[in-house]
Amino acid sequence: MNIPFLNFAPMHSAIRAEMQAAFEAVYDGNWFIMGQHLEAFEAAYAQYNGVRHAIGVSNGLDALILGLKALEIGEGDEVIVPAHTFVASALAVSHVGATPVFAEPDPKTYNLDPDAVAQAITPRTKAIMPVHLYGQACEMDRIMALAQQHGLYVLEDNAQAHGAHFKGQATGTFGDAAGISFYPGKNLGALGDGGMLVTNRDDIAEQVNMLRNYGSREKYLNEVIGYNMRLDELQAALLQVKLKYLPEWTAERQQIARWYDEYLRDTSGLILPYTHPDAGHVYHLYVVRTHKRDELQAYLKDQGIGTLIHYPIPPHLQPAYENLGLKKGSFPITEELTLTSLSLPLWIGLTQRAVKEVAWTIQNFVDAQQR
Ligand SMILES: *Cc1c(COP(=O)(O)O)cnc(C)c1O
Repeated sequence: MNIPFLNFAPMHSAIRAEMQAAFEAVYDGNWFIMGQHLEAFEAAYAQYNGVRHAIGVSNGLDALILGLKALEIGEGDEVIVPAHTFVASALAVSHVGATPVFAEPDPKTYNLDPDAVAQAITPRTKAIMPVHLYGQACEMDRIMALAQQHGLYVLEDNAQAHGAHFKGQATGTFGDAAGISFYPGKNLGALGDGGMLVTNRDDIAEQVNMLRNYGSREKYLNEVIGYNMRLDELQAALLQVKLKYLPEWTAERQQIARWYDEYLRDTSGLILPYTHPDAGHVYHLYVVRTHKRDELQAYLKDQGIGTLIHYPIPPHLQPAYENLGLKKGSFPITEELTLTSLSLPLWIGLTQRAVKEVAWTIQNFVDAQQR
């Protein structure tokens, strides 16, 4: 048996001809940066997400950095980020000179706990960065209420949840802006790096438009100290092909998750994903939890089944964040998740039979443990 954690081949072979045509259009167009393919993809993504502005950028981390910059967050400011997230959420805050202040997740959904956010607010807090982790929308009604009450900005990290929603509203449309990633393994992935900043605010769109392109709107006129953080024509053209399939692929991810739910329901000692009743889940990842995590991962590997851990070391315990002085034990829920979480194979083209095999292999492991 060989079931890798991630496999792009079935998804990509199904759209090969269209992807080749997109490549040729860019190749023959001989225009590679800031052109019609980027504009067309931005318009298509804005429509998909239901936002006024979508601005293609270099990657997800840069989208978050540009969002914070446009909100004029910097030195001396604090931004509340989940303790349980991919490190990039916190890195963005650090790169603009602000301080990430971590807040614990809800132990059931693994998403930012609004009560923990409330406790983390200080006079220096400028913004909250909810991360729709693993593909599930955060409790955005409570987070937005807190932001309004305290006069805080909200920058959503929507790198893992393209197409998710909370109470029917799409993730990425709640806050002042949202950062999106098109890293290859994300639900919508480029053939390389890519990202997007979406916003309904015209002023933020205008700033990010300039900031991503040397601080310039008009060629050779630089209004602000900008960056080179653009999405290139080739990635935009390829992403536009893939965007058409995203609703279909999202439904497939949800189907795979339902199979896992069904086949693993009765496996003792295994905690399955929990979805908040008001939240949509687009299953970027299917994460189970067990106290025998390392043993289970090794067993599955021996049986030819690939898994990953999201994430083995939380940001506050990374060497990069030593200066924050946050010791082991500072965020017990997060630390428990890092010790017990395991992400199972989930990709477009993963068959029902393969899901059954994975579940059956996990059941075998549990049975052997109990003997
Ligand atoms: C992937 C990811 C990012 C960063 O996106 P890149 O495109 O890899 O820079 C940020 N936040 C979260 C939650 C992510 O999963």
